[in-house]
Amino acid sequence: LVNDIEDKEEDLELRPPVITVMGHVDHGKTTLLDAIRETEVTAGEAGGITQHIGAYQVDVDGQKITFLDTPGHEAFTSMRARGAQATDIAILVVAADDGIMPQTIEAINHAKSAGVPIIVAVNKIDRPNAQPDRVKQELTEHGLVPEEWGGNTICVNVSALKKENLDELLEMIVLTAEMEELKANPNRAANGVIIEAELDRGRGPVATVLVNNGTLKVGDAIVAGVASGRVRAMVNDRGERLEEAGPATPVEVLGLSDVPNAGDLLEAVEDDQSARGVAQKRKDKKRADELTRNTTVNLDDLFSQIQQGDVKELNIVVKADVQGSVEAVKQSLLKLSTDEVEVNIIHGGVGGVTETDVMLASASNAIIIGFNVRPGANARKVAEKEKVDIRTYRVIYKAIDDVKSAMEGLLDPDYKEIVLGQVEVRQTFKVPKVGVIAGAYVTNGTVNRNAKVRLLRDGKIVHEGDIGSLKRFQNDVREVAEGYECGIGIEGYNDVKEGDIMEIYDFEEIKRTL
Ligand code: GDP
Repeated sequence: LVNDIEDKEEDLELRPPVITVMGHVDHGKTTLLDAIRETEVTAGEAGGITQHIGAYQVDVDGQKITFLDTPGHEAFTSMRARGAQATDIAILVVAADDGIMPQTIEAINHAKSAGVPIIVAVNKIDRPNAQPDRVKQELTEHGLVPEEWGGNTICVNVSALKKENLDELLEMIVLTAEMEELKANPNRAANGVIIEAELDRGRGPVATVLVNNGTLKVGDAIVAGVASGRVRAMVNDRGERLEEAGPATPVEVLGLSDVPNAGDLLEAVEDDQSARGVAQKRKDKKRADELTRNTTVNLDDLFSQIQQGDVKELNIVVKADVQGSVEAVKQSLLKLSTDEVEVNIIHGGVGGVTETDVMLASASNAIIIGFNVRPGANARKVAEKEKVDIRTYRVIYKAIDDVKSAMEGLLDPDYKEIVLGQVEVRQTFKVPKVGVIAGAYVTNGTVNRNAKVRLLRDGKIVHEGDIGSLKRFQNDVREVAEGYECGIGIEGYNDVKEGDIMEIYDFEEIKRTL
């Protein structure tokens, strides 16, 4: 971001929460999004025409809630991989007659690794074979313990089709949002994220923007990814023209020069010229990146990237051919955790490595371990683009060995001192502008220009530091061997005396093992 200035606490105001609906296919995500929109939006506004812009806002007793209209964790995670976290709360839809399915588990793990709270909508409660308690039991097995069972996951039984109990679901969203204390500063230049964008024949590039912070205004100079322009007009999800859009408001924006990508960050900048300048710089950079992108990242690069703070984390996605193997690989990897490096299995599942797995890994700085499975062609392509490391194995211990040695690379190395040589100071010279130089004789070992020096006088250490200069006659040299004379200057130290002994030493890095 160009305009990324931190807001002062007193400038922040509460803002509406932004919700993404996730869950297994056919469990009712779209039906739920439509049901909420219909009951809350059109009922309130007589004759209001809703317009699909990729997100909408409802009003629950004066409290606004913003829903992203593209359900699923795929969209959620690919945005996150682009650096845009638009969602505050995830609604996990689980059909009560079907229970937890593979994509339900994916959704849980994607939301968890983003650190987004989950509210469960147990859907299709109207079905005769609905078993909401079984769903809750299964949720518990995945770390989501319902509140009524002593945990902290809110579960609401609903029927999206019959529009039953949606009020309670909305109320729970409001409650959760209150606890999250979501804030933004409406009185500043806007930044936001592109939810979706397309080229409209009549209107030119049209982008749905979710404002994250600040207020977007008609007339603002804007830049989004490599597109720039000026806000010509804004329309909300009810088809109303807006002059201004504050935090968490979704609006359709006209006036960009190109069609940006979903997940691109948008920001208002000072004027047209800076908007164009930023966009051009990004275009150039993109072109340069494309030219240099042939390198595949190796594991060690990735490991050096993921060093975060004091606790070092290694995030891993595990995919395997059968559930038993997923569990076996997971358990053995988790055992590698130490006090210094924590192994997190952010997702484990049966089946080949998919694009979604790659996006999750990209968003969470994770590597992917495939056991007896391979990535598909698409997943491979995306992995190359996102620089995600996919490692596939046919024997478990090989996978474990690899991860173990990579983790060792995450440990800070230990250093061991090694003495390289010793010299006697036989004379000292004062050199103008340089300082005192010791005329010295190497009694054993060698003196290395880049080494360190410990000055000893009567067996006591009087100074430790770096060698500042090393000469033979008038010439700078890199090394002087035993039996030769040389001139040694000590960096920032001039109090060297005839008869002093210099110990020449260095540090050697020793790799630590787990
Ligand atoms: P999505 O793939 O998760 O978006 O699921 P859809 O919203 O497309 O719903 C899949 C099917 O389940 C559709 O035929 C819906 O009509 C049906 N469905 C969704 N919600 C309910 C519900 O609450 N009760 C019943 N009986 N059917 C539902």
